[in-house]
Amino acid sequence: MYVELKDINKTYAGYQASNHVSFGIEQGRLIALLGPSGSGKTTILRMIAGLETPDSGEIVIDGKVVNNIPASERGIGFVFQNYALFENMTVLKNVAYALFRYMTVYDNIAFGLNVKKENKKYIDERVHELLKLISLDGLEKRYPSQLSGGQRQRVAFARALAPNPHLLLLDEPFAAIDAKVRQELRSWLKEMIEKLGITSIFVTHDQDEAIEVADEIIITNKGHIEQKGTPLEIYQNPQTAFAATFFGQTSQITNYQSFHSFPKVDNVDKAIIRPEFVKVSKKNEVQRFGPSASEGVVERVSFRGDSLELLVNVNDNQIIAKRGLEEKSIAVGEKVDVFIYRLFVTVGEKAMLLENQSLVDDSVFI
Ligand code: ADP
Ligand code: MG
Repeated sequence: MYVELKDINKTYAGYQASNHVSFGIEQGRLIALLGPSGSGKTTILRMIAGLETPDSGEIVIDGKVVNNIPASERGIGFVFQNYALFENMTVLKNVAYALFRYMTVYDNIAFGLNVKKENKKYIDERVHELLKLISLDGLEKRYPSQLSGGQRQRVAFARALAPNPHLLLLDEPFAAIDAKVRQELRSWLKEMIEKLGITSIFVTHDQDEAIEVADEIIITNKGHIEQKGTPLEIYQNPQTAFAATFFGQTSQITNYQSFHSFPKVDNVDKAIIRPEFVKVSKKNEVQRFGPSASEGVVERVSFRGDSLELLVNVNDNQIIAKRGLEEKSIAVGEKVDVFIYRLFVTVGEKAMLLENQSLVDDSVFI
């Protein structure tokens, strides 16, 4: 493991921002810390960077315990949340928060190298190399206010990379950028980090961003780690109730036993259903699993660009389902058959996947 957090605790005025946090990251990987606002993501990054000290536990980087090593000596690059332009800021050698308003692009990128007192020739070569990397060569004399949001964030990225850090920390780097540019920056960042092979931790509260960008996701909730795995592993096999509800647009129902053909589990709190687990059919359509379907009434139909989203009331539950645009249209108030392929049930903090038994039985005859 290149980075390891071992049982880290951190309390702010009685509030436990990190609660027994442990995880490891292999060298060269791009990891997303994913969780709602206030779940402790930034606290974790700040402790890894050395901007904050854990109350207990160890932070290990490249085999060395770094708890007592100052931020400036950890060899870490940091890209902050937004590109707000600060005029004056205390900046630790290679840990800078935002672009300096009164410095050109060139001087912003050169900043960490100047602090390290590298020679001018080396700095000039390095800055030009980075300008090329971020496709902004020619713009080195501009000031941050003369750049677009996406360009500023690329400069912030180049500045963090300039001193050749071994670890890159990015705290919601695209949070303040509009949707279309954010999308482009995501793929740009993923490509860039793959190319450079630099171990990176990327904080986000946006599931889509994490799924799209990260090799692995660590889900944070109320200061602790809920689950760690590849995006697919977490999507397919959420181990906690929180992780199961965190991805996608889920519906929650309390009486899953009112749906046919699911095995009985004791002490279930609720069931969680993703739209892709649900098949909605019109009354006159052939239904392969007809006998196991339940009747529902459509309450809302919304156009979602690539599909129709249906809100269907079944046994007093509101369930969100999708229907293809090429399928026969369904109207509000229409009675429909609803078949649920699978669902997650939660028992306390745990989540487990249940398959509809009629699918299992059916497969015997295939
Ligand atoms: P996230 O980045 O996931 O939104 P943070 O790590 O910033 O969460 O914060 C986790 C919790 O710790 C929040 O409740 C926040 O208010 C609290 N917190 C963070 N930093 C400080 C601080 N310097 N002083 C007091 N409370 C803090
Ligand atoms: Mg944060």
